[in-house]
Amino acid sequence: MRCVWNAGTVLGEGPLWSDAEQTLYWVDIKRAQVLRYRPADERREVFQLPAEVGCIGLVRGGGLVAALRTGFALLDLEAGHVEPLVDPEHDRPGNRFNDGKVGPGGRFWAGTMDDGEAEPTGCLYRLDPDLSVTRADEGYVITNGPTFSPDGRLLYHVDSLARRVDAFEHDPSTGTLGERRPFIQLEERDGYPDGLTVDEDGGVWLAQWGGWCVTRYAPDGRRDRHVELPVSQVTSCTFGGDHLATLYVTSASKGLDAAARAAEPLAGGLFAVEVGARGLPALEFTPSTEPRA
Ligand code: BGC
Ligand code: CA
Repeated sequence: MRCVWNAGTVLGEGPLWSDAEQTLYWVDIKRAQVLRYRPADERREVFQLPAEVGCIGLVRGGGLVAALRTGFALLDLEAGHVEPLVDPEHDRPGNRFNDGKVGPGGRFWAGTMDDGEAEPTGCLYRLDPDLSVTRADEGYVITNGPTFSPDGRLLYHVDSLARRVDAFEHDPSTGTLGERRPFIQLEERDGYPDGLTVDEDGGVWLAQWGGWCVTRYAPDGRRDRHVELPVSQVTSCTFGGDHLATLYVTSASKGLDAAARAAEPLAGGLFAVEVGARGLPALEFTPSTEPRA
């Protein structure tokens, strides 16, 4: 386990590996930044955005899709360009976007949450290639971690305050959700379930906020691996690097008092762990229409 970037993020989140660029993207939601780390030469870059950024995804042909406090957008980091697409929550000013991921069919899934972490105003959205938005689920205080099983037939989604990860049936050809069943239930001592990713064997790697760890669950829900981190607020993880064999883990320093910060000086950093498993390449958002100029 190595801390590859002691970035001191407030709310480091959303790790995303670009195989084409051999680069790890992640975000600091609270500072409205996208961060970029290239392991080959350890290049570290920070890009400032105009609004809080919950999560990002790759776009076919280059660039990123993002869920900003102001709605979905396309990003060209090099040019410093933000192309607004659609804002499904202009009527919910207390909400912001949180975790998200591109799924089968080039659809971008992202959830929202009450920024005050109290009201059940959070929803899960699907942005389709034709740029239409569907509200797929609602009633959450904090949504987290949409991720898909390797065959695309399950969507794992987190209700953080309920400490529960659900598995929804998902039709990969249409993006429609079906039945929901509880997949993981954490106990109070485990902290809160946050972001997650899936390995090539269908194992689910779950970051535990307040739990100082990432845990792997077998597809049948059995807890079978445990990776400890030197930070309490472990926020998300994804596979990257050579052969997608490195687990990159993000963390947060939000809300830690001076004593806690002194006890975990790497809080807010990015970690790389060799866990003996391999991930799947990130899928790309595939807009079928030109965004409005
Ligand atoms: C959110 C944080 C929240 C945490 C708790 C994260 O995904 O961004 O605001 O405190 O989950 O589970
Ligand atoms: Ca998260």
